[in-house]
Amino acid sequence: MNASVENWMQVKPQGLYCAPADCFIDPHDAVDRAVITHGHADHARAGHGAVFATPETIDIMRTRYQEASVAGGVPLPYGTRQDLGKGVTLWLAPAGHILGSAQAVLEYDSKRVVISGDFKRHPDPTCPPFEVVPCDVFVTEATFALPVFKHPPLEDEIAKLMRSLTTLPDRTHMVGVYALGKCQRVMLALRAAGYEYPFYIHGALKKLTELYESYGFDFGDWIPVSEISVKDRDMLRGKIVLCPPSALADRWSRRMPDPLLTMASGWMQIRARARQRRAEMALIVSDHADWDDLIETAVATGAPDVWITHGRVEALEYALRARGINAKALNLIGRDEEAD
Ligand SMILES: [Zn+2]
Ligand SMILES: [Zn+2]
Repeated sequence: MNASVENWMQVKPQGLYCAPADCFIDPHDAVDRAVITHGHADHARAGHGAVFATPETIDIMRTRYQEASVAGGVPLPYGTRQDLGKGVTLWLAPAGHILGSAQAVLEYDSKRVVISGDFKRHPDPTCPPFEVVPCDVFVTEATFALPVFKHPPLEDEIAKLMRSLTTLPDRTHMVGVYALGKCQRVMLALRAAGYEYPFYIHGALKKLTELYESYGFDFGDWIPVSEISVKDRDMLRGKIVLCPPSALADRWSRRMPDPLLTMASGWMQIRARARQRRAEMALIVSDHADWDDLIETAVATGAPDVWITHGRVEALEYALRARGINAKALNLIGRDEEAD
């Protein structure tokens, strides 16, 4: 038991708290000092005092919130050591989840705690791959922690979409993607698969796509759908229109010619979830670790103790204990597992 770690890493109502540094990790309320693992809204809230995060994450927060709400941004490139005071050191390691996503590594009292945030092990051209950091306590999510979750290679799912464009050239392929990360990863994968037309995108995806472009990612041509007049919309048949998942269900998508509703998410492995989204086509595209990757990653860190923040907690607890790891659930509130 790393009882000594429990003395300085605590669960508070706002989230995981490093007591000697007086600092929260991904708190769900505004606090004085926060370490932010990545820019998704359930981790990166507005209004903190000091924010320790990668430069990319701070940029993402500034794009999503008002500039003033990230006034105290302290940009930490991966691997840069930051003294948090009282003997606590922080550095960030790649998490492979989205642009700028990081694991928070906290060192204190000759112990090392790694808070992985959301992470994945599948390749993603929009961010550097996850790095295994040996540690005493590994803190992990459990969003897809059931043996049924085995994420297929992205290329297979993209090939499914490409085939559909050929077989159903009269239909507008509407693809529901989350604005931060999923959208850009899917666009790059489509380019790699040879998709050559401009992407037509919903306005909600614009700002973050531009932010990625400022980091050098090349998505080729993309055009906001709002710039295509209603009389010209027939040209969208056989093309890809990217939109946030919520837009699939609303009137916006019904204004396209013969829309084929497609959802790209790790949850698409569950048929009922696909039906909920009214998706006619389901692409299993996840930015989280699947069951095998969750277990293999926890084991690879060598941590005798694994803390599980949220998700399918019991199954992962059981599987890790069977491997001799002392696993326990933290049941942090305020994490939105839908956003995959
Ligand atoms: Zn996330
Ligand atoms: Zn999350």
